[in-house]
Amino acid sequence: MIPGPTPVPEKVLHALCKHPIGHRSKEFQTLIESTTKNLKWLHQTQNDVLTITGSGTAAMEAGIINTLSKGDKVICGENGKFGERWVKVAQEFGLEVIKIESEWGTPLNPEEFKKVLEEDKHKEIKAVILTHSETSTGVINDLETISSYIREHNTALSIVDCVTSLGACNVPTDEWQLDIVASGSQKGYMIPPGLSFIAMSEKAWEAAEKSNLPKFYLNLKAYRKSLLSNSNPYTPAVNLVFALDEALKMMRDEGLENIFRRHNKHKLAISNAIKTLNLKLFADEKYLSPSITAINTGEIDAEEFRKIIKNKFDILLAGGQDHLKGKIFRIGHLGYINDRDIMTIISAISKVLLDLGKISAQEAGAALVMASKYLDSK
Ligand SMILES: *Cc1c(COP(=O)(O)O)cnc(C)c1O
Repeated sequence: MIPGPTPVPEKVLHALCKHPIGHRSKEFQTLIESTTKNLKWLHQTQNDVLTITGSGTAAMEAGIINTLSKGDKVICGENGKFGERWVKVAQEFGLEVIKIESEWGTPLNPEEFKKVLEEDKHKEIKAVILTHSETSTGVINDLETISSYIREHNTALSIVDCVTSLGACNVPTDEWQLDIVASGSQKGYMIPPGLSFIAMSEKAWEAAEKSNLPKFYLNLKAYRKSLLSNSNPYTPAVNLVFALDEALKMMRDEGLENIFRRHNKHKLAISNAIKTLNLKLFADEKYLSPSITAINTGEIDAEEFRKIIKNKFDILLAGGQDHLKGKIFRIGHLGYINDRDIMTIISAISKVLLDLGKISAQEAGAALVMASKYLDSK
């Protein structure tokens, strides 16, 4: 139960083990036609959604280098490890970064974006780069509000890391007019790592005409051109595309509303059960990510706790990163996760706390009652 790679359904695993086919074949074109249609459905968009062989970072880097030019001024939202990464990428390519920060565990403040964008009278800010669901802390940022301020600015593009929000909660690309939405296969898509996705608005394509940053493999114009014939500029990870097609069909069968409801229910079951176990949620409770819950272990060493859970129950939890190492652990509940998984992890955590003498049997029981109450909710 880490936030990626996430569990892969059996159907998808079977799709992976088919013999690869030629990526210039008619069969492959039919496959791309299907995945493209379903990717647009998932992104709730009419924009192009391109598939890149590479992890989520490739899609984010592609978004940045295809639309911006050396010396461009950008805003980067930073309230965790991934926000930090996009600052590094932007700086590496010679962009001038204005950081809007918030303490790890708290959300970015949309009003700070508004202020900086409003003060930019000469429209020098070319993009706002931010992470929707900050996986390192379990915080969801208020993308809806921030994107409305970006639209009011009228020049800056929105470049959004939706890696652990897409396929977990509502990301209406067109309604929020998001210019660039990046995601990766090993998260909400329920397939192994290796593919990433990038939705590009018309405004983003217009910016691509002026961009002068170096790029070759990640030059998205080539991907757009070959997508017209349901193809790919280079040899894609063909078997992952088989898997993608199967996973997207499963998602369509479940339906977006049901997917979002399931993730929300699991988030509530975990966060409320955790509170009955005398543990603290690391993130601001009003801004909990639908995909991942970070838990503060207090005086218990979180790394030691993770080890016990792994040894006793064979469940892998994620640790804290950087200064949070040993202080928090993170439960991934993204993608192919069901109610049983939630009951199992709450039981496992309760059992370990009981053994450590941190809670009573009553409290352990209460946590399960609490989790099941939320799982039963509609
Ligand atoms: C997993 C993840 C990524 C992508 O990382 P890769 O290792 O490149 O796939 C980006 N952003 C967030 C928020 C993530 O959780």
